[in-house]
Amino acid sequence: MLAPDGPRPASRGDGRCCVAHAAPRPTGAGQVAGLGAVRGRGRSRAEPDSVVAVDVGGTGLKGARFSLDGAVLERRTLPTPVAQGPGAVLDAVAALAAGLTAPTTCAVGIGCPGLLDTGAGVVRYAPNLGLRDAPLVEAVRRRTELPVVLEHDVRAACLAEGRLGAAPGARDLLLVVLGTGIAAGLVVGGVPVVGATGAAGELGHLPVVPGGEPCTCGQRGCLEVYSSAGGLVRRYRAAGGDADVTTAAELAARLPGDALAARLWGEGARALATALVTSTLLLDPSLVVLAGGLSGAGERLSRPVEAALAEGLAWRPPPPVVISPLGGRAGLVGAALRAVDLHGGGSGAWAPAVAAAS
Ligand SMILES: [Zn+2]
Repeated sequence: MLAPDGPRPASRGDGRCCVAHAAPRPTGAGQVAGLGAVRGRGRSRAEPDSVVAVDVGGTGLKGARFSLDGAVLERRTLPTPVAQGPGAVLDAVAALAAGLTAPTTCAVGIGCPGLLDTGAGVVRYAPNLGLRDAPLVEAVRRRTELPVVLEHDVRAACLAEGRLGAAPGARDLLLVVLGTGIAAGLVVGGVPVVGATGAAGELGHLPVVPGGEPCTCGQRGCLEVYSSAGGLVRRYRAAGGDADVTTAAELAARLPGDALAARLWGEGARALATALVTSTLLLDPSLVVLAGGLSGAGERLSRPVEAALAEGLAWRPPPPVVISPLGGRAGLVGAALRAVDLHGGGSGAWAPAVAAAS
């Protein structure tokens, strides 16, 4: 059990994914002070022993309260009320965080897609959430009265993989999160790649089929049209597949007997491999980690992708393609790790087995 007996330096500079983005610890806040300091001031607040994390998605919000040593204490989910407007989305995130907060919770971490200004705590543009210049951190801080840290959801997932998941300490890593859309977390030489405008890693909009099917982004032939969970289900249904199939897990369950599902699954795997060939040649990663909801398909996903990647690389060996042990929880776990960083509670004590079992 990790004893939060005082603020500790946030881990950084150890070459692991996203660690360099650890936010400065708040100062002078009783709820993040060590036990001794709290007692010394005669305050009644109990010893900090948990953080709350929220992973904001286009269809749902996942939230959990974690102990400081990584155990899940409580989990809740909410639908994301995108259709009700940005105010409703901010309210829902804040309500979920507040509902999970205990008197001994010391910080909140939020993982969110889109273009973010993490320093200002603002979502600059997240079309899947209907958010533009939305003060997400302030909304959650106001409701919870706790320190709140915002991190890009994929970089949060990357943080989780770099500390607890498939690639602890990897200096050159490609994380591909396959969900409603597709995004990538990149680590090059131990440094997470953010990009000039914070938009690095938009692997889902890499064109893989010239002149292919239209994408919601305005381009054609984008990877996520063919290989995301949403894209696979949409293409299956559009091609006359069983209308009862509404999730990628249901689609995967039909393999290999359903010929249409098998064909589209194969196309999706090859499209992903095409993007990975480009990525491998460009970045030379030591490992490719597949995460997000679609990674629940396990080897039914990784094997054909790995085979097609090897086939596409004529003169060099492919990097291994592995399924994240954290799966769809990577973003949530990463957001929790950022909250622990914010608290200064030494998240290095988190045990992979504990977090993975959550
Ligand atoms: Zn696109």
